[in-house]
Amino acid sequence: MKFKQIAVLLCALLIQQGTYAQRDFSDSEVTKLVLLGTGNPNPSPEQSGCALAIVVNDVPYVVDFGPGLIRMAAALSPRYGGNIEGLDVKNIKRAFLTHLHSDHTTGYPDLILTPWVMGRDEPLEVYGPTGIKEMTDHILEAYREDIGYRLYGTEPANDVGWRVNCHEILKEGLFYQDEHIKAEAFRVPHGTWPNAWGFRFTTPDKVIVISGDSAPSENIIEYASGADILVHEVYSAAGYEKKSESWKSYHAAHHT
Ligand SMILES: [Zn+2]
Repeated sequence: MKFKQIAVLLCALLIQQGTYAQRDFSDSEVTKLVLLGTGNPNPSPEQSGCALAIVVNDVPYVVDFGPGLIRMAAALSPRYGGNIEGLDVKNIKRAFLTHLHSDHTTGYPDLILTPWVMGRDEPLEVYGPTGIKEMTDHILEAYREDIGYRLYGTEPANDVGWRVNCHEILKEGLFYQDEHIKAEAFRVPHGTWPNAWGFRFTTPDKVIVISGDSAPSENIIEYASGADILVHEVYSAAGYEKKSESWKSYHAAHHT
């Protein structure tokens, strides 16, 4: 029941979902929480891939890299009729990943490359679980031809914005801090993933906790204590009842 109440909290957020109603529910001029996508591995045309942005004083911090995140961010930027300057994609320079599941990472090449193509002139700083560095190296290798073409062809491109500085999160607690945000990591139970993280963010006026993908967890309850907003994954009981026994056991071990 507790987690059903949490799902209701999502209604209080600034929600961007494809062509669905867009409305600013925020009560803060300092901190904006933007759900860039709330989908799962099913390729629903109504839900973009799992990703969100916390924008503090117009500085964006992305959490999770589901497919479509860059276009969803761009849709809220002034260039495409939105009003959040921080979501002009070239401004995306900090990103945090909860875990390595593909529905949280297939937007990663887009996150690395498109903001650079649009003018980002600093390396992307990425914080995530063990394995994110290896994934990053593979992505950059896969796009080596493209990066070289843009750098040494006729297109103007800087030689910095495609680069990625990876920081692997190895333990719970504070792992990132600047003048806008403080980021803490905590472990969540997500099947047998060895490193699945939830995050607690503290901005000048909000505390926002992100569950990532997780089965019900005492650790989340502890880290969400006192938070203004908890963004928690959830599946419906009605849908669960229609699943096969093997899918039921999967969901019970991985999700809430
Ligand atoms: Zn997952």
